[in-house]
Amino acid sequence: MAERGRQHVRVAVIGSGFGGLGAAVRLRRAGITDFTVLERADAVGGTWRDNTYPGCACDVPSHLYSFSFAPDPGWPRAFSGQPDIRAYLERVTDTFGIRPHIRFNSEVLSVHWDTEALHWEIVTASGALTAEVVVSATGPLSEPKLPAVPGLDAFPGKVFHSARWDHDYDLRGKRVAMIGTGASAIQIVPSIQPTVDRLTLFQRTAPWVLPRMDRKITAAERWLHSRLPATRALRRGLLWGIRELQVSAFTKRPTELGFVQALAKSHMKKAVKDPGMQAKLTPDYRIGCKRILLSNDYYPALVKPNVDLVASGLKEVRGTTLVAADGTETDADAIVFGTGFHVTDMPIAHRVTGANGTTLAEEWKGGMEALRGTSAAGFPNFLTIIGPNTGLGNSSMILIIESQLNYMVDFLRQLDVLGGRVALDARPSAVAAWNRKIQERMERTVWNTGGCDSWYLDANGRNTTVWPGTTGEFRRVTRRVDLAEYAVLRAPARSAVDAAAAQERVA
Ligand code: NAP
Repeated sequence: MAERGRQHVRVAVIGSGFGGLGAAVRLRRAGITDFTVLERADAVGGTWRDNTYPGCACDVPSHLYSFSFAPDPGWPRAFSGQPDIRAYLERVTDTFGIRPHIRFNSEVLSVHWDTEALHWEIVTASGALTAEVVVSATGPLSEPKLPAVPGLDAFPGKVFHSARWDHDYDLRGKRVAMIGTGASAIQIVPSIQPTVDRLTLFQRTAPWVLPRMDRKITAAERWLHSRLPATRALRRGLLWGIRELQVSAFTKRPTELGFVQALAKSHMKKAVKDPGMQAKLTPDYRIGCKRILLSNDYYPALVKPNVDLVASGLKEVRGTTLVAADGTETDADAIVFGTGFHVTDMPIAHRVTGANGTTLAEEWKGGMEALRGTSAAGFPNFLTIIGPNTGLGNSSMILIIESQLNYMVDFLRQLDVLGGRVALDARPSAVAAWNRKIQERMERTVWNTGGCDSWYLDANGRNTTVWPGTTGEFRRVTRRVDLAEYAVLRAPARSAVDAAAAQERVA
């Protein structure tokens, strides 16, 4: 029951990144204004607010990596930098009147399902509230992951994660160790190499890197896109279509990726001439198994005289000395961790307790599972944006988010049609059937067969992160909520006496 004076909303959205802001816009467009967006920080933007490291940019072209309902004819580059993407999200927030709905500095501490009241009880850092429906849009890239490295606590120098860059720390003249060779690290390396005294890169696994076809979008193009919106739509359509055509190679015929692998190898060899170094930089798994990276300046930076490549992971820290798994020792003044995020063990899952009294994290111990990537069984009226098996290897996550928002709007419409105090809980059988199909399809994909270990796989080696199909297919399967896949929960009708007592409590 909502306590006296406690706010009750129809929908509580957690997070104000692309997912949360998109949800807010779609709610307003569906005529729903009784909602709150709970944001732990004091600004919107999610991962695009938190990642401010030097060189941070998106490797999906901006005309595709943006909301279909908020096109921007003025993107300055083919691939936008973090400041431009963050500014875009700020504009979306104001253009669509979302800011008054946001409760900033309101980290969600717990979310409990009340089986009698059929609503969620939410405790945040700025107070409690109840909500009929929770839309969790915390995103998979929100909680930085640091490896457990013995001795790290006693390192006397500076330590930070790529997503928590310390701009007050001056890198000039410093010996910097960069840990990791993922999408973040390969942007950081060329950006800080000219500044630092020495840069030592700890590469546990070599990535496949392709050329980045970036360029300025000309004033003429921008003029055309703003005067003739069809040209903008055409550009987006082409960017989308090319990526849709690539999907079958990732999901069904990984051998077709062979020529892409050859392209990546020659890209590396253009910049790196030393055969020993080439060998270290050549991955031992099929391209696509891990995220394919795009960069024109990563390899050229690695051959600069102030850069050392240690082809081994960081194993231990002894004072100022960093020890790699192969025994290499390096002295450093600062360690930058580009070691990724808690993707398959989302922290919010520990804070959400469902109808059975267990947390989402407990339910997901054996692997994350949700119906159509959105609804977990036992968590009624709880929708996850970018939930299990919704990630993409080659296209824009905004397409997936928008599909899930279609599903969210239909979910709310279904609740309206059912009427009264009602909740929808995904049937365990429907969730199991959905996931069985996904895992069957996963067997042939490059992510499962490519011979690598990646964050796409959870602790049990199961791929619970990537969608094994096209974005078009995901759009189709999330168009409508199929009520047969849900149990309809209804609160017992209140007696006249109960209703009067409730009225009294509220008054
Ligand atoms: P990530 O892809 O998870 O990469 C983490 C890196 O840290 C991996 O190279 C990993 O090595 C390494 N690592 C972990 N522990 C280590 C150790 N003890 N010693 C040495 N290396 C260690 O993280 P990320 O680069 O932050 O990227 C995460 C995701 O964010 C990306 O996949 C992408 O979806 C997104 N992102 C996108 C962009 C973009 O659009 N350009 C930019 C940044 C991030 P192993 O490979 O051996 O595990």
